[in-house]
Amino acid sequence: MGSKGDNVAVCNMKLERLLSMKGGKGQDSYANNSQAQAMHARSMLHLLEETLDNVHLNSSASPPPFTAVDLGCSSGANTIHIIDFIVKHISKRFDVAGIDPPEFTAFFSDLPSNDFNTLFQLLPPLVSNSCMEECLAADGNRSYFVAGVPGSFYRRLFPARTIAFFHSAFSLHWLSQVPESVTDRRSAAYNRGRVFIHGAGEKTATAYKRQFQADLAEFLRARAAEVKRGGAMFLVCLGRTSVDPTDQGGAGLLFGTHFQDAWDDLVREGLVAAEKRDGFNIPVYAPSLQDFKEVVEANGSFAIEKLVVYKGGSPLVVSEPDDASEVGRAFASSCRSVAGVLVEAHIGEELSNELFSRVERRATSHAKDVLVNLQFFHIVASLSFT
Ligand code: SAH
Repeated sequence: MGSKGDNVAVCNMKLERLLSMKGGKGQDSYANNSQAQAMHARSMLHLLEETLDNVHLNSSASPPPFTAVDLGCSSGANTIHIIDFIVKHISKRFDVAGIDPPEFTAFFSDLPSNDFNTLFQLLPPLVSNSCMEECLAADGNRSYFVAGVPGSFYRRLFPARTIAFFHSAFSLHWLSQVPESVTDRRSAAYNRGRVFIHGAGEKTATAYKRQFQADLAEFLRARAAEVKRGGAMFLVCLGRTSVDPTDQGGAGLLFGTHFQDAWDDLVREGLVAAEKRDGFNIPVYAPSLQDFKEVVEANGSFAIEKLVVYKGGSPLVVSEPDDASEVGRAFASSCRSVAGVLVEAHIGEELSNELFSRVERRATSHAKDVLVNLQFFHIVASLSFT
C-alpha cells in the first residue's frame, strides 16, 4: 500500500486483496469501534436463537463435530461472543434432548487482509475435553476448536456438506467490488462528484443494486454447497427502509454527508483532483427487503424462516451526548474504522488524515443532527436448508 496518493488506485487492485476493517486495538481500530455493532447484535439474539432452534441435531452414537462459521468475522471481540453464544445454545439443545453433545469447531472467516492476529489473541483459552461441561457453564473459557479461514465469502470456502451453521453479521452489504461502470467516465453510471451511491443518479444506483444482487447470488450458491442437510444460516446486513436505492438510510448518512463533504473540501482546497475523488467509491450497498428477497427466492436452495428489517440504532457510542466534539470524534472514528483502509489505499495516509480531520470537524458542527438521525436498519434473514 503506497503512501503517496497519486500512484495508487483502488480500482486497479482487487478489492478483496485490500479490504479490511482497521486492525489492531488503537483509537480508529474496528476492535475499538464496534461496540454499537455488539449492541445491535445483542438486541437480535432472540432471532439468532430461533434460527439455532431450526438446526437439526445429529443423534448418532459418534457424531462428527458440530461446525459453526462466522463469515466476515473482522478483528474485534464481537465474533467471539457470537460463536460462544451459538456453541452454548446448541449444547443446551443437546442436553435438553438427552443426547451427548458432540465436539464443536468454529471457523472465523474474513478476507485475507483481516487482522486475524488481533482476533486470535482475544480468544479465551481452550479447556480440554475432560472439563468441557464445566467450561460450558463458565465464562472466560472456550469449549470449541477454532480455525481462521481467509477468503471471500462470495466464493467457496469449505468442503461440500460440512457446515451445520453459518452466521454473518454486518458484512454482506460490502460488495465484492465497486461496479466497473461507476468509475468509468464514459459510462452513464459514472458517479461524478460523489463517493457513494447515496444521492447518486439512477444509473449509478442500478449498477450498485445489480452488483449487490449478483454478489448475494454467488454467496448463496457457495453456502448451498457447503451447508449440511438440516443446517441453517443467520444473516444480518445493513438494510434500508426506502424503496429508492439512492436513499441509503444510515449508511447514506455515514458515507454520503460529512464524509462526502470532506472529500469536496479536499478538492476545493486543491489537495485532491476532482477525478481522483470521483474514482473513489464506497463499495457498500444497503439493500431493501425486496432486493434481498428476490435473490434468495431466485436461488431457491434455502427456505426463508424469517426475513425482516430490524431497527438497530445508532452506530455511535458516546458517553457525553451533549459534547459536540465527542460526537464528531466518534463519527469520524466510526467512519475511519470501516472505510479508512480503502481511503488510504486511494490517496495515501497523509491525505487520509486531512480527510478524516475534516469529517470530524463537520460532524462536530452537526453533532445534534448526527446523534438523532444516524440510525442503522438491518436486514435479518433466517434461512434453513433441508
Ligand atoms: N461480524 C463482525 C464484523 C463486521 S465488519 C461484527 O459483527 O462486528 C464487516 C466485515 O466483513 C469486515 O471484517 C470485512 O473485511 C468483511 N468482509 C467484507 N467483504 C467480505 C468478503 N467478500 N468476504 C469475507 N469477508 C468480507
